[in-house]
Amino acid sequence: MADILYTFENSVYLNITNTCPCKCKFCIRNNGDSVGDASTLWFEGHAPSFDEIKSAIDAFDFSDYKGEIIFCGYGEPTAAYKNFVMTCSYIKEKLGLPIRLNTNGLSDLLNGKPTAEEICSLVDTVSISLNQHTAEKYNELCVPAFGEKAFDAMLKFAKECKTCDNVKVVLSVVDVIPAEDIEECKKLADEMGIPLRVRKYTD
Ligand code: SF4
Repeated sequence: MADILYTFENSVYLNITNTCPCKCKFCIRNNGDSVGDASTLWFEGHAPSFDEIKSAIDAFDFSDYKGEIIFCGYGEPTAAYKNFVMTCSYIKEKLGLPIRLNTNGLSDLLNGKPTAEEICSLVDTVSISLNQHTAEKYNELCVPAFGEKAFDAMLKFAKECKTCDNVKVVLSVVDVIPAEDIEECKKLADEMGIPLRVRKYTD
């Protein structure tokens, strides 16, 4: 069983699935089997059940932890939507800590329904991977299984999250793309009224 909960640079992360509809060329999954103090982030045999996620949370000592709990890991958290929803509720009930979702923004396509409103009711921050500023460039970089509709679905999701007053929304790009593309991403993010974070690529 892979590590469900791991720490990296003093933050607590949850890895609840290895499923992801993208094949981003910069994905850290291509570089190794783990991050931070995890031994492996690859689940073998089966994805974790909610009970297994709950047990991993229960086993961690949060008494001195004041940070946020971040859904990230080696897969797209919203691909395990039911477990994601139940885990958020459990964290709020048991720990009351802030929650951040790092997502590719394709939850609506993954789950066949609008999900921004429900997600915003569960988390404090949503960080959405913008990655590029056109559908063509996005598809080339992220190779989404949903093809051409992915980019617009991700933008729609981001805009809907932005309408949720209680949630901080951030877009991100990784600095593997040319500087002029980063500039265009900044313009797009500005138009949407959402801050853009430029993440450093680490291998
Ligand atoms: S969306 Fe995230 S997990 Fe999926 S391939 Fe891209 S970087 Fe990797």
